[in-house]
Amino acid sequence: MKEHPYQVVITDCDHGSIEEEKEEFSQMGAELILAQVQKEEDLIRVCKEADGLINQYASLTRRVFENLPKCKVVSRYGVGVDSVDLKAATDFGIIVANVPDYCIDEVANQTISMILTLIRKTAFFDQKVKSGQWDFRVGIPIYRMKGKTLGLIGCGKIGLEVGKRMSAFGVKVITFDPYLDKTSEGIELKDLDTVLKESDMISVHCPLNDSTRHLIDDKAFKKMEKKPILINTSRGPIVDEKALIQALEQGLISGAGLDVLEKEPPDVQNPLLKMENVILSPHAGFYSEESISELKRRTAKNVADVLRGRRPDSVVNQEVLGKTRATISIE
Ligand code: NAD
Repeated sequence: MKEHPYQVVITDCDHGSIEEEKEEFSQMGAELILAQVQKEEDLIRVCKEADGLINQYASLTRRVFENLPKCKVVSRYGVGVDSVDLKAATDFGIIVANVPDYCIDEVANQTISMILTLIRKTAFFDQKVKSGQWDFRVGIPIYRMKGKTLGLIGCGKIGLEVGKRMSAFGVKVITFDPYLDKTSEGIELKDLDTVLKESDMISVHCPLNDSTRHLIDDKAFKKMEKKPILINTSRGPIVDEKALIQALEQGLISGAGLDVLEKEPPDVQNPLLKMENVILSPHAGFYSEESISELKRRTAKNVADVLRGRRPDSVVNQEVLGKTRATISIE
């Protein structure tokens, strides 16, 4: 008799433990293997009996899928699924699932903390006080935030949360989002030029794609009439970094808060590292103990759902539905 009804393989992951994943699969008696492999040959060897895969960075190519006759589902830790050949997975009836919303609260708060730090100049003052300067005047000018305007570039899950929080500070919130015809929480939709022109604070929350790469370029900076602060917690290449450095040097904007950069980690000679009105964090917006635990649990649950005959919460290759290798009760 077979000891376990199912086998699930974690191809690779850089998390300290897999306790949440173990818990999810122990309830259904599935065997869980942590393989930590990256090469195609190794993936084929360790995953050939797997009913489901959990994946972080290892490339799941067409050749890998060709050699996994039992695999019914791949669940990726996080939002992006660049590591998976989606077309190949779909051709083999394999569901690809992800977890698109495990860190909304964290990224929204990272954004708010950067806005407040720049507006109140807390990081700047901290450095001054520690170097012996006890004088609030070194931070002048400091402006009141209430009554000012925040412009969101993109108002999806994270942008909306940022907008809601900032409204509570008495800030007017406007957004440019070409895919929305209305917004909630009193956030006004505007065209891009109006957002650039009218905002005292601009925060970027759109995805990175061909139409958003360098969306904030030298022309955009020149349209920022109010010398705003710029926050980017989305993806580095949405902001043209050369143009950003120039805008800071020329005083077109009054500061920047960046959780993401065009090159991560940045070169040591990157001028942004030396600017007093720039605050940086190392692509940390997603992280909290709770968000990572939730990510691990929900990534595992996607696989468990499919093996139990249920459709997982977030299917990336929707076109697979109706021709899945697994028998799914509600398609
Ligand atoms: P989302 O898909 O819910 O929202 C994105 C919004 O951007 C949508 O409303 C969409 O209509 C809009 N949009 C698309 N193209 C646009 C354009 N050309 N101009 C303006 N708006 C446009 O995504 P989300 O979950 O809110 O994530 C937002 C960003 O945050 C993504 O880039 C994501 O990669 C990033 N992110 C960063 C971290 C981090 O650790 N810093 C963590 C999670 C997500």
